[in-house]
Amino acid sequence: MPQILILDDRVTNQRILARLAASVEPDVKVSAFGDPLDALAWLETHEADLVITDFKMPHLDGAEVTRRIRRMPHGADVPVVVVTVYDDREFRLLALDAGATDFLLAPVDHVEFRTRVRNLLALRRHQLEARRQAERLRQDLEASERLRVALMQESREALAQLIDTLPAMISAADAAGRVVFVNARQAALAGRPPAQLIGQDVELLFGAERAAFGRELDAEVFARGEALPGFEEGATGPDGTRIELFTTKAPLRDAEGRVVAVLTTSLDITDRKQAEERLLHLAQHDPLTALPNRSYLAERLRERCAQGRRSEDPFALHVLDLDRFKGVNDALGHQAGDRLLAQAARRLRAAVREGDLVARLGGDEFAILQRNAATPADAAHLADRVLSALARPFRLGGHSVATSASLGVTLCPKDATTADELLRNAELAMYRAKATGRNRFGFFDPDMDADAQRALQLEGELRRALARREFELVWQPQVNLRTGRICGAEALLRWRHAARGIVSPAEFLQLAEETGLIAPITEWALAAACAQGVAWQKRRPGGLRVSANLSPSLFGSRDVRDMVVDALATSGLDPSLLDIEITERVLLDKVEEMAATLRSLREIGVSFSIDDFGTGYSSLAHARNFPVQRLKVDQAFIANLPSDRADAAIVGAIVSLAHGLGMDVVAEGVETAEQLAALRRLGCDEVQGYFVREPVTAAELEAMLDADVVLLGAG
Ligand code: C2E
Ligand code: MG
Ligand code: MG
Repeated sequence: MPQILILDDRVTNQRILARLAASVEPDVKVSAFGDPLDALAWLETHEADLVITDFKMPHLDGAEVTRRIRRMPHGADVPVVVVTVYDDREFRLLALDAGATDFLLAPVDHVEFRTRVRNLLALRRHQLEARRQAERLRQDLEASERLRVALMQESREALAQLIDTLPAMISAADAAGRVVFVNARQAALAGRPPAQLIGQDVELLFGAERAAFGRELDAEVFARGEALPGFEEGATGPDGTRIELFTTKAPLRDAEGRVVAVLTTSLDITDRKQAEERLLHLAQHDPLTALPNRSYLAERLRERCAQGRRSEDPFALHVLDLDRFKGVNDALGHQAGDRLLAQAARRLRAAVREGDLVARLGGDEFAILQRNAATPADAAHLADRVLSALARPFRLGGHSVATSASLGVTLCPKDATTADELLRNAELAMYRAKATGRNRFGFFDPDMDADAQRALQLEGELRRALARREFELVWQPQVNLRTGRICGAEALLRWRHAARGIVSPAEFLQLAEETGLIAPITEWALAAACAQGVAWQKRRPGGLRVSANLSPSLFGSRDVRDMVVDALATSGLDPSLLDIEITERVLLDKVEEMAATLRSLREIGVSFSIDDFGTGYSSLAHARNFPVQRLKVDQAFIANLPSDRADAAIVGAIVSLAHGLGMDVVAEGVETAEQLAALRRLGCDEVQGYFVREPVTAAELEAMLDADVVLLGAG
């Protein structure tokens, strides 16, 4: 409802104006006054939307009234219309100056009055609306500001709470090294409530040592204005135990961006560190012997090598391997084997000096890193001590087990300066020591390395040779001295190497045995020999006896019986045409088992020859335990016949003893007619050697058979 105030000292005018004003809009309220002071008094307690005032009045004129209204709280923007009797410029200026909104000329024109009043009321309404909106806006702003402040307060508290519950120790220190903030966890570590720590020296918080270190770092953060990378540090826990912390330091800035404090945050990583250490220990140690393992040793070696380039710091690496461990494992079981290893580990540790490192490389292989081994004599001294420690019998659950070890030594920096080389050197030296006869040690020498390289290359080529069918057989005839005719042929292996030509078995058999390639090679040779035997069996009445060589190493690993039976079955060779050459060595190991194998093959007709007889350790008395049909006297006893009487006597004795046991004697490596004659005199049954023929192809041998060569020799 718009409120219009009319002020005129003349009652008539008052009435006219009031009536006119009231007629402008339906519900306009009009208050009319004759005295300006009354009007002003009324305005103190009421609000008007429009003031229409006469200019010339007693006490106060229109300009003064306007001025006073403008000073009132609600009067500043209320439209004030001043009515002047005539168009008096001076009055108008006065009124304008006092803040009047508009003028009307008296006597007022009704139409103009109404129009003007209506417009001013509309203006006023807009004005009020705008003011209300502004007010609402202000209130909204105020409300949101209050909310913001409340939220800030709340979030600050929440933040403080959060910081207290974080699993981190948080504190801040100013440039003077005083605590400006500390969370509950950090305070608990210091054993005081946070309030007691604020303003105190950081030493109270961290203890003297950590505080000194922390202060240096804080100084750096102040100087550089940058966070430091995190670092690990140790501290004393609330219960006095050591704890591990991961600590970071970062600058805290004020509104201007100046660094005012350094925030220190520490995470307790004790559990993680312990787990890490446990894992590390597991990864670096062997659970059975509790010794460091190969990877730990390699790591230490690498460290030592890095330092040891200075020659004042020489050291020795020993690698050793128990000589009969596999036998113990097989005979007494794995648990006994484990106990043996654990005891060996204890003896090794007792044998070395403090500071030397004993490690288990795997299986029954150990290593010792010997510090301060300035001379080979130092290393030899320890190697001796170790070997004698391991040579003492071990007690394993009621059994006394004697074993020994083979040991290889290499010196750093003399032999090599990298961990890998040193380990390889020591292993090479160890293999060499083992091959030379066990229970001994040997130093690495560079020739071994060259040998090893060659062997490695050869091994690769050997593997490929099988796939590429580079093997072939040659045949060496055996002649019966009674008839002078060929009675058999020995199959001898040849490797036709693409670059090296024909390679003799002496050059690759040992490696084939060491690498296990001997098994597939033998299978091939056996099959090829049987196949050739079948060809002769078909073509010649009675066939021809074929001899095949079987390596001693096969007997340990393979079921030789199955291998031979397979070859016979596949080829269809009459088993009585197959002769198998074995060396004396085969007969020395596992006597019962070996005898059973040979016997079962003998039962199906296969015969056996003892090859290279006389060079091994067996005796004829031992050989009689096996179903052996022939002894092949080694060429060493034949070479010096007939002049060497001792050899002649030996061969003579072998012949008579063999005949006594129902065996035939074959002389190997017969090269001369004189040798042949001597052998005939000594009663030898068969001969084989260059004098008859060097090994030849199957076709060449067949040509000899076709020609029916008869070799009678001299005498
Ligand atoms: P071995 O079984 O004693 O074979 C006889 C060796 O003496 C053969 O050497 C043969 O060529 C050689 N020889 C024959 N007559 C004479 C002679 O009058 N004077 C001299 N100085 N030597 C003669 P090869 O063929 O080099 O074979 C060497 C060894 O390799 C064989 O000795 C045998 O132990 C082994 N071997 C050959 N072939 C095979 C095979 O297929 N399997 C296995 N496991 N070993 C084989
Ligand atoms: Mg042979
Ligand atoms: Mg031989």
